[in-house]
Amino acid sequence: LSRVECPDCGAEVPIPEDVLAGEIVTCPDCGADYEVAVGEDGVSLKPAETSGEDWGE
Ligand SMILES: [Zn+2]
Repeated sequence: LSRVECPDCGAEVPIPEDVLAGEIVTCPDCGADYEVAVGEDGVSLKPAETSGEDWGE
């Protein structure tokens, strides 16, 4: 388990070790959703594209 700082509130967001790029994680503190990006420097977060209700069902 690794932790990445939430870009929004600065809380630590737990990231599973086997996380895959593109997975969505939710900040436990502010509830924001982020998409996981995996790069050479490790895991980072970018805002999830959740505009509208285009996903789900
Ligand atoms: Zn947060």
